[in-house]
Amino acid sequence: MSNDVYEIYAVRYGRHVRRSSENFIGGDPHDVLDPIDFYVWAIVGAGRTFVVDTGFDAGMAQRRNRELLKPVGEGLSAIGIDPEKVENVIVTHLHYDHTGNYDLFPRARYHLQDGEMAYATGRCMCHAHLRMPFEADDVVAMVRKVFAGSVTFHDGDHEVAPGITVHRIGGHSKGLQSVRVNTRRGPVVLASDATHLYRHIDDGRIFPIVYNAGEVLEGYATIKRLAPSRDHIVPGHDPQVLELYPPARDGLAGWVVRLDAEPSRPRR
Ligand SMILES: [Zn+2]
Ligand SMILES: [Zn+2]
Repeated sequence: MSNDVYEIYAVRYGRHVRRSSENFIGGDPHDVLDPIDFYVWAIVGAGRTFVVDTGFDAGMAQRRNRELLKPVGEGLSAIGIDPEKVENVIVTHLHYDHTGNYDLFPRARYHLQDGEMAYATGRCMCHAHLRMPFEADDVVAMVRKVFAGSVTFHDGDHEVAPGITVHRIGGHSKGLQSVRVNTRRGPVVLASDATHLYRHIDDGRIFPIVYNAGEVLEGYATIKRLAPSRDHIVPGHDPQVLELYPPARDGLAGWVVRLDAEPSRPRR
């Protein structure tokens, strides 16, 4: 990896309170309350800012019965990022909670896997079961960005900037990509929905929204190979992330944390 090192921020914007049985194929023997959080991430350093995923807005929260805690733009502003000026957005996949707010970053170039666009615009979307986590308006917005010349496609592993690489994982969504970022504590892997919670990758269990279960499980091995330790893996929806990592600034506890800092205690 290059010598460029970055700060990474996890910005929580939403929450959904649910039971643990809803988070695992095959249910969960404990069946307790097991909320998931919704995040976007920001990578800042070496004169660059990359936003990873764009979240959903208030209208979508209502439509999908999710709680919007703080709008994505507010969270980014709180750490000094002006969405209007962001030049690069990595979209891990096109599910509604990762690719809404599509007017928020007017100057951005979007980084997406070939396979994700093909999946979200192709025959699989004829099936209600597979299109459920997608919103037609989000997908159309991305198509418009393609025609506006503001999308860069990747196929597999690619370095988008020195020290920032994307890695196609698939599984949960056909073209899902995770992001590896060089930081002061070594490479940190933003897994996104390659593992929703720590428990998925720790225990080899699978979140119920899935395109290919085999790829999900192989993806866990890939993520572990990309990360120097379990503490360098950041799951996409785990509320524990906010407890393990320090607030980015005073007053941002429970909202924005620093992922390039050491986690405060072992995860289990
Ligand atoms: Zn997803
Ligand atoms: Zn998600």
